[in-house]
Amino acid sequence: MASTAQAVTLPKYAQVAVPVHLSKTFTYRLPASMQRDVRLGSRVVVPLGRKPVTAYVVALLPALREGTSLIESEIKEVEQLLDRDPPLTPQVLEVTRWVADYYLAPWGEVMRAALPTGINASVEEVVSITAEGQAQRSAVRSQSNVKTRALNLLAAAGDLDLKTFCLRIGVSRTPKWLRELEADGLVERVHRARSTVTRARKRKMVRLKLHSKDGAEHQSLTRAQHAVIETLRAHQEEMAVGDLIESAGISESPMRTLSKKGMVEIFEEDVRRDPLADAKLPAPDDFQLTPAQGQALDAIEQPLTEGGFAAFLLHGITGSGKTEVYIRSMRTALAQGRGAMMLVPEIALTPILSRRLRANFGDQVAIFHSSLSKGERFDEWARARRGEAQIVIGTRSAVFAPVENLGLVIVDEEHDTSYRQQESPFYNARDTALIRGQKENAVVVLGSATPSLESFHNAQTGKYQYLHLANRIANRPLASAELIDMRDVFAQAKRPATFSDQLLTAIQQTHARGEQAIILLNRRGYSSFILCRSCGESITCPNCDVTLTYHRSDRTIVCHYCNHRQIAPSVCPVCDSKYIYYVGEGTEQIEEEIRKRFPSLRIARIDRDAASRRHAFEKALLDFGKGELDMLVGTQMLAKGHDFPNVTLVGVVSVDAGLALPDFRAAERTFQLITQVAGRAGRGARGGRVLIQTYHPGHYALRLAATQDYPAFYNEEIRHRRNHGYPPFVALASMLVHHRELRRAQSIALSLRKALNEANSNRACRVLGPAPAPLARLRGEHRLHFLIKSRSRRSVRQLIDTALNAGEFSDTDLRSVNVEIDPVSMM
Ligand code: ADP
Ligand code: ZN
Ligand code: ZN
Repeated sequence: MASTAQAVTLPKYAQVAVPVHLSKTFTYRLPASMQRDVRLGSRVVVPLGRKPVTAYVVALLPALREGTSLIESEIKEVEQLLDRDPPLTPQVLEVTRWVADYYLAPWGEVMRAALPTGINASVEEVVSITAEGQAQRSAVRSQSNVKTRALNLLAAAGDLDLKTFCLRIGVSRTPKWLRELEADGLVERVHRARSTVTRARKRKMVRLKLHSKDGAEHQSLTRAQHAVIETLRAHQEEMAVGDLIESAGISESPMRTLSKKGMVEIFEEDVRRDPLADAKLPAPDDFQLTPAQGQALDAIEQPLTEGGFAAFLLHGITGSGKTEVYIRSMRTALAQGRGAMMLVPEIALTPILSRRLRANFGDQVAIFHSSLSKGERFDEWARARRGEAQIVIGTRSAVFAPVENLGLVIVDEEHDTSYRQQESPFYNARDTALIRGQKENAVVVLGSATPSLESFHNAQTGKYQYLHLANRIANRPLASAELIDMRDVFAQAKRPATFSDQLLTAIQQTHARGEQAIILLNRRGYSSFILCRSCGESITCPNCDVTLTYHRSDRTIVCHYCNHRQIAPSVCPVCDSKYIYYVGEGTEQIEEEIRKRFPSLRIARIDRDAASRRHAFEKALLDFGKGELDMLVGTQMLAKGHDFPNVTLVGVVSVDAGLALPDFRAAERTFQLITQVAGRAGRGARGGRVLIQTYHPGHYALRLAATQDYPAFYNEEIRHRRNHGYPPFVALASMLVHHRELRRAQSIALSLRKALNEANSNRACRVLGPAPAPLARLRGEHRLHFLIKSRSRRSVRQLIDTALNAGEFSDTDLRSVNVEIDPVSMM
């Protein structure tokens, strides 16, 4: 009965999205053999153009849609169904669809980003010999030409993927004669999904089946067989085969004999590659919450137990106990039988935090760390998919984690730019988390010591409920931040110095007391700008309120938003001083200079390059935590999320370079950086000092960060945003054109400008550009960009959509154009 009912509704067609730079979906016919097993979210192999590709099923259709332009006879068939159990749950599929839609990103690419890398199968071409080929081979055995060699090879080796085949025959690319062999029906070429997809790892186990101490059974056993049984008894009757061999000092054969006798059982078990398998875990804390923590927790628990969507901004300085509130809310979610998810910035997922969470939640938490091996990541993901882990902690892409019955989403350090993916698909995990919460009726908590202007604005307008932890735990004092005026240092020394005497003395004293220091360099200078050493002013664009960038080649200063250009001045336009100075050279030499001045200090450097070496980075942090290093020198990633009680000095060496980035968020980023960094010092009982070197001590971002006055900073900054028309008052998008040839980049940019103008005939948006991007050349490509602003978010997306689909672009490769909705970095 069930089968006839199903036969009526079985899908005949599948609509799929492909993980390439194409935003449309494609329709394929489902062979009868797949109709029963295919599911929404399943991966399939389909022919696309001349090549088969992996694709994701986004809709199943019993018949072609009415009014479709598809022609039945031209629809191709799905070649292969890769999963019966689709890796994308319906909820996650829905979120990917929203992301694709909102960020104008190809749906298939979003789905690929949503899955752990190991699971994205690729397709390979396989060569094999046919029955006819076999027959032919015997007939012409004596001839020794290359075709015969090829047939012999295939007969001996079985199927070979095309690359291996070419390698074994000794040709560099597919030879013409192979096509001839194929045409003659002697060999076959097919495409299939590559089989090296990451899978669970298996381990051989042995288990005792004989439970009585029956002596009669024992009589007939050899000494080695006895040893097997005794060892198993000593180990809860079950062990890994390898372990048993080792501890009983035997070979595998007595085990096999016992297995044949039915006295033991040998079986396979999934091995979990646990990144924290050997870690020592701290005991879970169980202290009384402070009143402020208690209030925050109550507020979060209310919608959590009622089961509806709610959004909170948890604003609390570092050390105010936010993480503890997250942990308790997650416990509540679990107690409600619901899952939870916690997103953290790329670098804040320290070994320390991971251990704290493991200590609290044990195996219930799956950790998606960007530096896990593929296998480890797959295992953690699979534990969530199977429902074994109800909590997922991870960086950006964890927002797509298959958490079942999601009740709570936490986004820690919500202002952090690493939530934004800087390659296609360009999505923001924080904003995606809010959408996911809405769709799944979950509570979303955004936490930060320095909320993004957008989020604080949303709290002010009532879109988010505002929760505040105003004090540090145990009222530990905040480190005081002191601004060191480098104009004075310059006036005294009469020459530029990297370090002020104050900072050098402080480093020395800190070391003498046996305490630790962190020295923060600014991000590597992307571009130069002009700064006056006498008055500290830099030069900004009259239209856009961003710093003008210096171009050495033609001695001009340029606005990277609106393309305003002027000749670089030779004296300061503010104070007439001639000590104009071009900042932005690299900062590598700063570490060297410290090493030279303090040869006895044990120093480690942490920056993006070092961070890519996972173990070196983790080791430096752990060693520093254990007190085996005296100083960490690094870029802004050092500012985040670590808790080192013995750090009593933080020095910021070149804060001005960050302040002058041609980005309207430069002041906000600098404020965040300094506030975060001040939170690093004085975590312990000893308190701490923060020294900031600057030529611009009067700048509001520095002044207000030094006193940790977030509300005052917000008020000043929001005024700039309103006056100059930046988010949160307008919706913003950027379009980046990039190409190896400058000419080509320019011509694409020009036709894009034309298309944007046409699409914008109603003037719903403001279009700026093309202007050279602040990183005008990157990885061998020339880069030009546009900014699009409007009060209406919809108009921005519509404008871009219309422009990109205009006729001019029919011959443009859209891979040269990146579209970013709500960009967070303007570089
Ligand atoms: P944040 O996430 O805001 O930086 P944490 O939750 O990590 O703050 O708390 C800072 C420190 O204070 C941690 O060592 C934590 O164990 C401790 N802590 C948190 N809440 C309490 C509390 N109510 N009583 C005592 N110690 C606490
Ligand atoms: Zn000046
Ligand atoms: Zn400008």
